[in-house]
Amino acid sequence: MPQDARPSQRNEPNRPLFPPIGLWVDECYCHGMSDQFQSETALVLFSGGQDSATCLAWALQRFARVEMLGFNYGQRHAIELECRDRLLDGMKSLRADWAARAGESHTLDIPTLAEISDTALTRDVAIAMGEDGLPNTFVPGRNLVFLTFAAALAYRRGITHIIGGMCETDYSGYPDCRDESIRALQIALNLGMNKQFELHTPLMWLDKASTWRLANELGGAGLVDLIREHSHTCYLGERGARHDWGYGCGECPACALRARGWREYAAGGSASS
Ligand code: ZN
Repeated sequence: MPQDARPSQRNEPNRPLFPPIGLWVDECYCHGMSDQFQSETALVLFSGGQDSATCLAWALQRFARVEMLGFNYGQRHAIELECRDRLLDGMKSLRADWAARAGESHTLDIPTLAEISDTALTRDVAIAMGEDGLPNTFVPGRNLVFLTFAAALAYRRGITHIIGGMCETDYSGYPDCRDESIRALQIALNLGMNKQFELHTPLMWLDKASTWRLANELGGAGLVDLIREHSHTCYLGERGARHDWGYGCGECPACALRARGWREYAAGGSASS
């Protein structure tokens, strides 16, 4: 047998290649206000949507310092990015300890993603289901690109914890939202950058009603109202009409998911209650 082809194992024999993401997330969520990471820094993928806003609060509750990362990739609803400032300001006002933990907010421009995509998110075409069962809002590999850029930024800033709102419970069938995709990427990033990143996906096993309830557990009615008012999810970038679940066209798949989750949450029901 030749020398081990994997330098990371040869140099660091005790280094785990495959931390148990799913197990960790399950345990951390169930244990609520864990203080496991009270001395560490996290980087949160923060788009200004409901899921990433909930993830940001989840991180602010757990980590000593939290930095944020948003992407500008030519999406036609830049309004989601504009929501970030209002959400962050609102969370800082809501909790003094969260304000103390909130660090730098980064934005990376990656227009190349729009150049290689042909979807309703980046072009002026109608949202429809494709023959492959995926909506044409799907930007191939988008979350893989986001997490890889996040890891590169985290590497530079000495951060090992990266948090994203990927979820395979209530989702549109995007394969890069699946737990196994995230697990595989974590292995690739750790090998490719010779680091021990942990990719945290606290919403992975939550439905949309449970995501609203998690927001309530983290920051009470104040956080729920903040996310309802200032987060943005609509694929069309529609922000004129105010519904009980927030703003949006009310018709696109993202609005439909958000509306249904809110109704279930407001009615007091949820799959995991
Ligand atoms: Zn919509």
